Amino acid sequence: MRIKKGDQIQVIAGKSKGKKGKVVRVVPSLGKIIVENVNVIKKHSKPKREGEKGQIIEVAAPFDASNAMVVCPNCGKNTRVGYSIKGADKLRICKKCKKEF
Ligand SMILES: [Zn+2]
Repeated sequence: MRIKKGDQIQVIAGKSKGKKGKVVRVVPSLGKIIVENVNVIKKHSKPKREGEKGQIIEVAAPFDASNAMVVCPNCGKNTRVGYSIKGADKLRICKKCKKEF
């Protein structure tokens, strides 16, 4: 997974195309990410106690990481992520401006 929690991403395909947001969770086993305010679905929650009403809550649902591109914090462009090796560290670099992030 090239996308990490905390990244800014832009959606490049699918029904949320064009939206930007911050990654709040990644699910590497499924190749999916959860991004705030993107792919929001309405969920009905059942009443917890008798006499209480059920609620409709909005939650961001996971979607395919392949539908998103990382927005580079340096140049602000949608970019592909490259890697550079520095000693024992593998750093992610922006393919457009070549800066690490
Ligand atoms: Zn960049």
